[in-house]
Amino acid sequence: MASPSMPTTIGHLINGESDYSADSLVEVYNPATGEQSAELCFADSDTVERAIASAKSAYPQWRDTPPAKRAQVMYRFKQLLEAHSDELCQLITQEHGKVLSDAQGELVRGIENVEFACGIPQLLKGEHSKNVGPAIDSWSEFQPLGVVVGITPFNFPAMVPLWMWPSAVMCGNCFILKPSERDPSSVLRIVELAHQAGLPNGVLNVVHGGQAVVEQLIDAPDVQAVSFVGSTAIAKAIYQRASEQGKRCQALGGAKNHAVVMPDADIAGAANALMGAAFGSCGQRCMAISVAVAVGDDTADALIAALTPQVKALKIGEGRVAGCEMGPLITQQAKQRVAAYLQAGADDGAELVVDGRERSVPGFEQGYFIGGSLVDRVSPSMSIYQDEIFGPVLVVVRVESLHQAVDLINQHHYGNGCCLFTRDGEAARCFADQVQIGMVGINVPLPVPVSYHSFGGWKSSLFGDLSAYGPDSVRFYTRRKTITQRWPSSGIIDKTQFAFPSTDA
Ligand code: NAD
Repeated sequence: MASPSMPTTIGHLINGESDYSADSLVEVYNPATGEQSAELCFADSDTVERAIASAKSAYPQWRDTPPAKRAQVMYRFKQLLEAHSDELCQLITQEHGKVLSDAQGELVRGIENVEFACGIPQLLKGEHSKNVGPAIDSWSEFQPLGVVVGITPFNFPAMVPLWMWPSAVMCGNCFILKPSERDPSSVLRIVELAHQAGLPNGVLNVVHGGQAVVEQLIDAPDVQAVSFVGSTAIAKAIYQRASEQGKRCQALGGAKNHAVVMPDADIAGAANALMGAAFGSCGQRCMAISVAVAVGDDTADALIAALTPQVKALKIGEGRVAGCEMGPLITQQAKQRVAAYLQAGADDGAELVVDGRERSVPGFEQGYFIGGSLVDRVSPSMSIYQDEIFGPVLVVVRVESLHQAVDLINQHHYGNGCCLFTRDGEAARCFADQVQIGMVGINVPLPVPVSYHSFGGWKSSLFGDLSAYGPDSVRFYTRRKTITQRWPSSGIIDKTQFAFPSTDA
């Protein structure tokens, strides 16, 4: 329902200019109040074509811009992001709902990706070999792909786009971003700041839309590669569609991240760590811990005893309120989904130790708030264990050994993150080695790699061969070309040779 004052209209950004062409208008809400805050233009097909044409025409000049000049734009951009941090965090909180301190954390991690991008010229250096044959030299260089696209989710509206386009444009590509329709304002402001920093028009364009826009972008002959972050079903469909057309694609999907708690762990410390990892951002993080695997009944009982009062005491409210620990979910449908999983868990025989459906926030009855939930005696066949809930729900599975815990994790179809709480180095080493998961923490609940590593899960959490950001992003957004050369003055071709070339000739 629209609020009485007319909401602002959010448009695309094509060739450095706002563009309000729309096939349809979609409502953007403040999830804390349930009120509409803006309307968003979903692009028609001509608008998508214009964005592609703009990126294509900017490409030749940007590709040939010296990498150090491109880096200067990134340095200025980083400074602008820092100068506008408060404004950006307000926008994130208003549309996403996460608490301000969490929005700040997101932005800082995004800025780290910009810092990494500033140093990309170092990683673009090629490989050179002299005298691979008589007076013949050979080298490999990493050339940009051309026009590439990125499709991003709602849960990190500022950070996930910054995983993608700074690396892509620093490698010499031009980029089209299709952000989430739920919280588009912070990313648009960030793209404006990139232009203020000196990014030439057309190098980075933003179009909004849903499935039709995404499919048009993937299918466009001028688009060379696709980066996607979102839910697994869509990640898989996008990966299939792009790769069928021979396009490079990395599609990061959903998650169900386990934290194993060993009997020798510091239980109070593990409980504190789990509170932030499970309930931060209302559980709407792809690295959120959603399963605690307790090794032994005594460990499980102690963990539940430590967690229960903390889950009940979570400070829930509008994200801008000081001291607030958890905001709302992103939509009313998300709230209903989380509630339905809790009901399914109860129906399947799990024990709802804390039932978040009972919480509400006075004065924000129309907001999409739900309390934190703690569910014990969950078994692997239950939907509350199998599916990504993407809400503030921590389930506890009881096992008898580390071996059983690793087996449990390895049988799960998701493989994004996991962690182990222990004081035992041998257990830690065995866990890190055996677990079939892309990002592993030892006494670190959210092992999100820093920007100069790369981020990627295994199994249904990532389709493609290269992870997001860091060194993998440079490989993803470039193509190796190997050149072998001889000059007539240094080695005349004086006879025809039919044998396959070797180091002798
Ligand atoms: P989503 O899959 O609903 O949407 C992601 C993007 O895809 C959005 O831009 C959306 O507009 C677009 N989209 C939606 N339907 C589409 C369709 N049918 N065809 C093509 N594009 C479509 O995800 P979300 O709800 O925005 O984000 C939450 C999900 O993202 C969770 O599953 C979470 O685990 C995942 N996620 C994963 C990572 C990771 O790194 N693995 C990071 C963040 C979020």
